[in-house]
Amino acid sequence: MTIPPIGQGTWMIEGARDAERRAVEALRVGIDLGLTHIDTAELYGNGRSEELVGEAIAGRRDEVFLASKVLPSNASFDGTLRACERSLKRLGTDHLDLYMLHWKDRYPIAETMRAMERLIDQRQIRFAGVSNFDVAEVQEAQAALRNHRLASNQVLYHLRERAIERHLIPYCQEHQIAVVGYTPFGREKFPGPDSAGGKVLAEIAARTGRTGRQVILNFLTRLPDVFTIPKAASAEHTRENASGTGWRLSAEDIAAIDRAFPVPKSDRPLAMI
Ligand code: NAP
Repeated sequence: MTIPPIGQGTWMIEGARDAERRAVEALRVGIDLGLTHIDTAELYGNGRSEELVGEAIAGRRDEVFLASKVLPSNASFDGTLRACERSLKRLGTDHLDLYMLHWKDRYPIAETMRAMERLIDQRQIRFAGVSNFDVAEVQEAQAALRNHRLASNQVLYHLRERAIERHLIPYCQEHQIAVVGYTPFGREKFPGPDSAGGKVLAEIAARTGRTGRQVILNFLTRLPDVFTIPKAASAEHTRENASGTGWRLSAEDIAAIDRAFPVPKSDRPLAMI
């Protein structure tokens, strides 16, 4: 299965039953439109997000690339195996395509990666990944894996948070580790229409017949092996996001976005939310 540049996030899709129904419908519409990489985590809604993803993919498991994450507090060897079992149950499936450590905390990376390898060998997951890892932590995870490779690193990546373009993305590309960027719209840092950057996006969007969000998603997936996973709770938003791919920004437009949202000139610790 080819992984599409744009997938679907599922943080905070839980809530009142009506809102949950809309979110499940939005995920299904997204699958129809090719947004087949679905990202969830045991953390989200305390498992509720996984249950809703399970509803959305019921009867069409084979169409999706399904990713979930183990909480750092569960990430001992045995804890990871048990957490995965619980996630599979909530998702109504017998395997995940990708299982990640959500962020590094108290357990040694090597211990969690050992559990990931066991899960691959037991065919409960296809690939092992990490999230919120800087280059040194990625290297630690790589070194810990004996028989399988590290498939991906999920990190914060939006127009106002581009520091990963300095070292992390090049390192991952060199080692064939997919970079999955989260929070593409930047939450409170979303470039509003009156901001200088927002005006640049609006101009490109108007001239190319796209929306500002489509321009953002296209820009964030312009590099090889870099993916994005916007979350949308309505089919309307999902449809808009789905049209963020399948076309290319011109070099001039990429340069204009670069000037409006520059990559920082010095190194900084990996940002996360
Ligand atoms: P996001 O995808 O950047 O933004 C989500 C917000 O944008 C929601 O309020 C959503 O509204 C709105 N939105 C989406 N499409 C829209 C559209 N076309 N028009 C207008 N508004 C739109 O933020 P995120 O949820 O933080 O990040 C995405 C995913 O990344 C998460 O859901 C999660 O799966 C993952 N993530 C991972 C980590 C990690 O530590 N690994 C951390 C954060 C997030 P509606 O909901 O109303 O549609």
